Amino acid sequence: MGSLIDAAGALTGSAKLVVAMDGPSGTGKSSVSRMLATRLEASYLDTGAMYRVATLRVLRSGVDLDDAAAIAVAVKELPLTIGTDPSREVILLDGEDVSGEIRGNAVTQAVSAVSAVPEVREQLVALQRELSAAAGRIVVEGRDIGTTVLPAADVKIYLTASAEARAQRRNAQNIAEGRGDDFAGVLADVQRRDTLDSTRKVSPLRPAEDAELVDTSDLNRDEVIDELYRVVAARISAGGSQ
Ligand code: C5P
Repeated sequence: MGSLIDAAGALTGSAKLVVAMDGPSGTGKSSVSRMLATRLEASYLDTGAMYRVATLRVLRSGVDLDDAAAIAVAVKELPLTIGTDPSREVILLDGEDVSGEIRGNAVTQAVSAVSAVPEVREQLVALQRELSAAAGRIVVEGRDIGTTVLPAADVKIYLTASAEARAQRRNAQNIAEGRGDDFAGVLADVQRRDTLDSTRKVSPLRPAEDAELVDTSDLNRDEVIDELYRVVAARISAGGSQ
C-alpha cells in the first residue's frame, strides 16, 4: 500500500496497518506498544491481558492448575470484554472491572499454566483475530502475534532485553507501586516464565523469521518509541504493507 506514508513521511489517515509486537515480559513492551499505537493513531490490543483474565477465571473457579481439561472447561465461553483504545484500558470479566486484579501475584504465578492449554489459546486467538480485523489499523501485543495469531501482519517487531534489565524494570515498577523490593525474586520469576513460555508445545515464544529485533536493554522509553516508529516507517516504505 504505497499510500500509507505521505510525502512528509507521516502515516496517512485511513490506511490499514497491522503491527505485531512480540517478546518476553519486562521489556517495557506494554507501555511502548500503547504509545506506538497512539502515535500511529491505531487501536491497541493487549493479548497478555486476555490470558490473564482467563487465568483469573480459572483461579476463581477453584480448578487444579495441573488439570488442563478442567482449565479448558472453566475458560470455555469466557465472558471477556477488552477495549482497543490505547488511551483507555477496559478489561471486564462478566462485566466486572478486573484490570487491577489480573496484574496481581496470584494471576502472574498461574498464567503460564493456563496459557499453555491449547483450547484456551484457540479461543483467545480467534477473538484476537476478530478484534484485529475489526480495527483495521492496530498494534497487537503478545508472544505469538507475528508467528501464529497474525502471520500476515504488515510489520513484525520482537522486543528483547537481557533478563537482568527486565527484572530491574519490573522490580522498580513493584517498588513504585508499593509491592516491595525483591530483585532476586523478580529475576527468578522472569527466568521461570521465559523458560515456560519458550518451551511450551503450543505457540512457544520465539521471534517470527521476518521480525525486526529491537533490544531495549540500554534504551529509555522515548528512544524505544522512536526506534519502533522508524522500523514501522521503514517497513512500510519498503512495501511491507498490503
Ligand atoms: O504480557 P503479559 O506479561 O501480561 O502476559 C502474561 C502471560 O500470558 C505470559 O507470561 C504468557 O504466558 C501469556 N501470553 C501468551 N501469549 C500471548 C500473550 C501472553 O501465552 N500472546
